[in-house]
Amino acid sequence: MTNTPRSASDTSRSGRRHRRSKSRSGAAATLTFTVLALILVGVLVLVTAKQSHDTGPTSSAPASGRNDGSTGSGGGTVPGQKVLKLADHPILQDPDAGLQNIVCVLPDWHSDQASAQAFFTAAEHCLDQAWGTFLQGYRLPFNPPTLHFPTGSSFQTACGTIAVGVATAAYYCDNNLYVPYRGLQIEQYGDNPGVYLALFAHEYGHHVQEMAGLMDAVWQRIYQVGENTPAGLDLSRRKELQAQCFSGMFLGAVVDHGSVTRDMYAKAWRDQDTRGDNTSGSHDHGTNAHYAAWWRKGAQFNRAVQCNTFSASASDVS
Ligand SMILES: [Zn+2]
Repeated sequence: MTNTPRSASDTSRSGRRHRRSKSRSGAAATLTFTVLALILVGVLVLVTAKQSHDTGPTSSAPASGRNDGSTGSGGGTVPGQKVLKLADHPILQDPDAGLQNIVCVLPDWHSDQASAQAFFTAAEHCLDQAWGTFLQGYRLPFNPPTLHFPTGSSFQTACGTIAVGVATAAYYCDNNLYVPYRGLQIEQYGDNPGVYLALFAHEYGHHVQEMAGLMDAVWQRIYQVGENTPAGLDLSRRKELQAQCFSGMFLGAVVDHGSVTRDMYAKAWRDQDTRGDNTSGSHDHGTNAHYAAWWRKGAQFNRAVQCNTFSASASDVS
């Protein structure tokens, strides 16, 4: 591991923008139509979700965090309806709901593009199994994210052009998860698969938010208050710190089962201290202390209720 003048968090934290914040200029009429159609669908989903809620309590069958027995979807597409709620979202209520302790088998880590690609592809299957099963317990929709391994200094997404290494190590946008090899900064972090797995699981945490409806719900609020207002940044931090907690939940669920060793877990645990806003100078991801604390809470307890950043006091998400 070499020490570089640039602070670690400046170039290795996970994606800064996870959804498009503005329509791209020059959008074709078809795109506009698509957006309008999506908005209409979103409204319908919202209305339907509200109606189903109003008619009575939904029957949720939370996945047990201590159950090795049942099998998951294996990552297939499952129909369902998002629930556009935040603090009162159904996946954040049950004190006993966590991820199953699945056996996650990953290839050995080697620091080259092809090996990293194989590692994250296998990791995605583990995450699909763990989170797919969990979300299905609440009759929420599920489909695996599409993985991308861009090799250039920047890459295109539906959320805009993303520069590698400036503020983004990995990135999530609308069911697509991007892992540019250069973004991992392996020259700095070395052969450290636990650290990279936690980073990947954070981005996947945004996919969980997307599937559940939390992502749509938080962006509705952010658009209302303004992305760069104190209220908008508070919401951004709650979204990011929840993804941290979801990442911790996954590593906590798979450590000692399969390929994720106690050593990988311990190194991921320690790494979280360096990736918050203190070293980046921004205010959208949470202080270094909070960025680490929420990950550790997820890892230690493996309970989604512990990841309810939207009900946390402002001082816990600063
Ligand atoms: Zn994030």
